[in-house]
Amino acid sequence: MKYDRTFNFSAGPAMMPEPVLEEIRDEMMNYRGSGMCVMEMSHRSAVYQQIIDEAEADLRDLMGIPDNYKVLFIQGGATLQFSMIPMNLMKNGKAVYVETGAWSKKAIAEAKKVGEVIIGASSKDKNYSYIPDCSDMDIPEDTDYVYICENETIHGCTWQTLPNTKGHTLVSDQSSMFLSKPCNVSDYGMIYAGVQKNVGPSGMVVVIVREDLIRDDLTDLPIYMQYKTHADAGSMYNTPNCWAIYCIGKVFKYLKSIGGLEEMEKRNIEKAQILYDFLDESKMFTGTVEKSSRSLMNVPFVTESKELDAEVVAATKAAGYDNLKGHKSVGGLRASIYNAMPKEGVVALVDFLKKFEEEHA
Ligand SMILES: *Cc1c(COP(=O)(O)O)cnc(C)c1O
Repeated sequence: MKYDRTFNFSAGPAMMPEPVLEEIRDEMMNYRGSGMCVMEMSHRSAVYQQIIDEAEADLRDLMGIPDNYKVLFIQGGATLQFSMIPMNLMKNGKAVYVETGAWSKKAIAEAKKVGEVIIGASSKDKNYSYIPDCSDMDIPEDTDYVYICENETIHGCTWQTLPNTKGHTLVSDQSSMFLSKPCNVSDYGMIYAGVQKNVGPSGMVVVIVREDLIRDDLTDLPIYMQYKTHADAGSMYNTPNCWAIYCIGKVFKYLKSIGGLEEMEKRNIEKAQILYDFLDESKMFTGTVEKSSRSLMNVPFVTESKELDAEVVAATKAAGYDNLKGHKSVGGLRASIYNAMPKEGVVALVDFLKKFEEEHA
């Protein structure tokens, strides 16, 4: 591999496309004749304004975001949204959450501090190894929104069909699947994604929110916690995460250059298939997620024992495949194969695991 880089299977922060890293390197000391690095630039300068404007425009283009949605770049990662969402969107103080794993549970815990949370469905009975049927949930008429985590990064399950919200606003955490495939934005009231899984460095979230959900009657809320603050200020109420916005802007351009989200999805399906086909054939390794809910991004799998799991993790690390240890709530291993993981990385990992299995049979 060029630059002697490792295939990094981390759940996040994670790999970035190499052409993007190379461009950033080339612009490091002097961004396009500005005489400075983007890190050193005033966010109020014309040159930076162009960077943030282009990032938003390219994202709108990639996802086909309708004009009645705002795109906001907010700090605090995806985690701050667990609080901002109920604070801003609970008008009647009531929301339905679907409990599908670690990240939806965290969101539920924060929402409970703000209002009433109704668990519309849960997959807790099988350690969150599937997405429950949400075609006919009990949703009270005065529910403010229905909340899902569309790809559970730790448990490795993903929604194939969105829930039937019965006309209520859908809010989705897309952190670990953002821009991995086409998305029909108007199916949602709000989409958000911490950017360090699929599109950039950590410390920021992209929020895509329908304008009518942005309220101006929340003057008692801390100013930074109001979507209106960020919407009115073009994501520059305070100094934004200038660096992350610059980097994700490059990733958006890169995705456009390879053919957009249709092409990205094609590549992601191909990559994931290689790994799942191996897991389905293997006698040593087993995927932990029901087939119909398998994620294209995060693939957890186990052997028959914790000892063997640990042995495999150590062997992969020694061979140059990093960050494959599974999260403690699932155990075993987890391969995160986000947009920037090349197909060669997955092929190499599968070859390695095959050999390991043969040698330990
Ligand atoms: C990583 C992750 C988060 C938390 O992101 P931070 O930026 O660390 O706050 C939230 N939701 C999902 C689905 C994630 O994968």
